[in-house]
Amino acid sequence: MKAKVNRDACIGCGACQAIAPKVFELDDEGLSQVIVEDIEKDDQDEAREASESCPTAAIEIEE
Ligand code: SF4
Repeated sequence: MKAKVNRDACIGCGACQAIAPKVFELDDEGLSQVIVEDIEKDDQDEAREASESCPTAAIEIEE
């Protein structure tokens, strides 16, 4: 599974990082970035939850 952040849509709220800290991180610009190439099985539920919780639907998950 992979995740992608649409940085044009991200508003830097930090929700994804709070929910799935092993997958998302706010960078120096205060926007979310994906920090893993392939999401480990143990982190996939959190990644999905982060995507569903994003207020601007900026996170795309590829199963
Ligand atoms: S939850 Fe969405 S808007 Fe908030 S930091 Fe993450 S990608 Fe950006």
